[in-house]
Amino acid sequence: MRSTSLKPGEIPKKSLWRGGPVDSYSFYCPSCRVDRKVPYRSRPGGFRQITQVTSTAAFFTLLTWPWLDWKGIVSFVPFWTIFEFYYRTRMRASLSCPHCGFDPFLYLVDVKKAREEIERHWKAKFAERGIPFPQKPAAGQDFGIGSEATESGSSSLTAEDPES
Ligand SMILES: [Zn+2]
Repeated sequence: MRSTSLKPGEIPKKSLWRGGPVDSYSFYCPSCRVDRKVPYRSRPGGFRQITQVTSTAAFFTLLTWPWLDWKGIVSFVPFWTIFEFYYRTRMRASLSCPHCGFDPFLYLVDVKKAREEIERHWKAKFAERGIPFPQKPAAGQDFGIGSEATESGSSSLTAEDPES
């Protein structure tokens, strides 16, 4: 359900991250400008995934046939729930930038938390090397995330087919 009649320069009301299903995400990290690619579909439900869960449910049905008969196929629902939970957890974990700790999803939900996450990332990196973490910059120059994300970040978030 994505609006396709956008005029040039118009910002879509719905975020790309929350829009319709997309095969993979490709974008530049708005914080450190590294080319990022998230190789997951925004929503699980590909033919292979459905087949896998269906065959698991079918196998379960065969195992429990003496007790449940064909009703065992209802196990598809809990199996799919487990699969989707696993899939979404894995995808969510892959969103965060490995270079700077910027989490685009968290940024859309809570900017303050996204900043804290970046700080936590760098504190851990500094601690790893045994270097004391520098003092916070003066107010107004807060890593420059807020201003850059609105200029280049949102416009470079593009959905892309895995084939291309
Ligand atoms: Zn980054």
